[in-house]
Amino acid sequence: RNASHKPFLLAMHSHIERILWSEDQISRRVSELAAEISADFGGQSPAPVVVGVATGAFLFLADLVRKIDLSIAVDFVRVESYGFGTVSNGAPTISFDLKVDVNARHVIVVEDIVDTGHTLSKVIGHLKSKGVSSVSVCTFLDKPARRKVHFQLLGEGKYYRGFECPDYFVVGYGLDFAELYRNLPYIGVLKPELYK
Ligand code: 5GP
Ligand code: MG
Ligand code: MG
Repeated sequence: RNASHKPFLLAMHSHIERILWSEDQISRRVSELAAEISADFGGQSPAPVVVGVATGAFLFLADLVRKIDLSIAVDFVRVESYGFGTVSNGAPTISFDLKVDVNARHVIVVEDIVDTGHTLSKVIGHLKSKGVSSVSVCTFLDKPARRKVHFQLLGEGKYYRGFECPDYFVVGYGLDFAELYRNLPYIGVLKPELYK
């Protein structure tokens, strides 16, 4: 390993004021969610399509699907809403669409975090227009205190969440600040001087 990489690694971790969920806690919770989903969808044919919301959901999705014992399809949509700030602009758009045909399929939307709810409402509306049979949501984090839009699951859809998140701007495990910190293996709170 090249020793010159070390200062960058240290620099990333040193930007974190505190860790909310460790790698071990995350891994245990993801296993529980995967077991619930495997049980809930076990009897259904065809198996669901798992749709990750890029980029934030990539690590959660990768960990989750490897623990789901069903022959699922996996795809992504990209939704633009945040730019480089920490506050949603309230009008997300779909900037990259699915490849898999989800018509008459059960879909599980995998999100990193549900905050105001704007992104999820947009994604659910988009899936509805494609004629899905149901939409479930599996979000790693949920910040109910900041909800502005009430989204509705479709059909027999279920809601799964990893953890309820306090009202901090968190990073890691896929969640970014200005596209950085997604590769932190845990969820942490950035030192305020880094974004204020
Ligand atoms: P919403 O549209 O529900 O307000 O926000 C959804 C998106 O905003 C999330 O998928 C995520 O990308 C971003 N977001 C919301 N809260 C946070 C947060 O605390 N930290 C980070 N890094 N991103 C967040
Ligand atoms: Mg997201
Ligand atoms: Mg972001």
